[in-house]
Amino acid sequence: MDKVLVTGGAGFIGSHFAKRLLRADDVEEVTVLDALTYAGHIENLGEAFLSPKLRFVEGNVLDKALVDELVAAHTAVVHFAAESHVDRSFFQAGAFLMTNVLGTQTLLDAARRLGVERFVHVSTDEVYGPLAEGSAAEDAPLAPTVPYAASKAASDLVALSYHRTYGVPVCVTRSSNNYGPCQHPEKIIPLFATRLLRGQQVTLHGQGQHVRNWLHVEDNCAGIELVLRVGVPGEIYNIGGGTDCTNRELTNRLLRLCGADWDSVVYVPDRRSNDIRYSMAWGKVTGLGYRPQCTFEDGLAETIDWYRRNPDRWAPLVRNPRAARATVTCAPAGEEVHAR
Ligand code: NAD
Repeated sequence: MDKVLVTGGAGFIGSHFAKRLLRADDVEEVTVLDALTYAGHIENLGEAFLSPKLRFVEGNVLDKALVDELVAAHTAVVHFAAESHVDRSFFQAGAFLMTNVLGTQTLLDAARRLGVERFVHVSTDEVYGPLAEGSAAEDAPLAPTVPYAASKAASDLVALSYHRTYGVPVCVTRSSNNYGPCQHPEKIIPLFATRLLRGQQVTLHGQGQHVRNWLHVEDNCAGIELVLRVGVPGEIYNIGGGTDCTNRELTNRLLRLCGADWDSVVYVPDRRSNDIRYSMAWGKVTGLGYRPQCTFEDGLAETIDWYRRNPDRWAPLVRNPRAARATVTCAPAGEEVHAR
């Protein structure tokens, strides 16, 4: 695995992954391709720029000429770049389909024509849709309910079709909700943390009964790296192992860690299309040697500590949340964007 192209590597998960790869002795070069939308921040790569193995290219995965040039120069692609925020997809579904589906297809097509040894497409458990009970294995039917999840499900199918039709060595990973340092404060954990740390209130949908599985970003990246190295082409790997908890339980933990109490919480009516519960079975990736390392307790404490120590990284984003060097704008004026 000499030269790896990481798309979306200035975003939350992609930047952790790029930094992880740079630590691997057998990786010669890591190129990050990122459009630096409102969600991409060069600062997320931080100390990685000290490594002579890192190259950063600002550009769009829909730019066929650029993608061709980069894919031709790499042996592997790990594809994170996406529009990733569910609530934005309610207002900007077209942008989600463009980047998430056509952007993925642009990369796959370059891989088909130019040849790569590995191609990992990074996806989500949200493609399985809500489950009242039980857990979805990799062969469960896809039942996405929101435009974001539908765009990811479509891109998964396109990626797998490029394996079956053209033999592109594609693996798909699907993880549950990630948390950790450097996540954009539009997502629920950093949104709540950055508000509570400033003494502001947070809003909880419904009764906070929705269940999510929280996976530390480094555990997800470890799983993705394993799939990159030893995953079987054509296969899907669920990556889970975090903690299942309701948004109410999550809020309780965040209140404690931020030194706030329930007076800081305002209940608001549940929004349209708020999946009640996601759950995945992830036994297959354990067969590759995956073992999540981070407990929710430690991971969440470390994460809140990061937000407490790094207001310079998130304060500009919460002051002007709609600031965008963006390929996507968000809710029309007056519409509130809630966190997932
Ligand atoms: P993010 O929004 O933090 O980062 C996305 C990155 O992609 C940003 O740096 C952005 O600038 C870049 N980007 C967006 N459009 C682009 C384009 N057209 N061309 C090039 N770059 C572009 O997202 P994230 O949370 O790090 O998620 C990364 C991937 O993991 C996504 O594919 C997402 O669907 C998937 N995923 C995320 C989670 C989660 O909990 N965050 C869970 C499961 C799967």
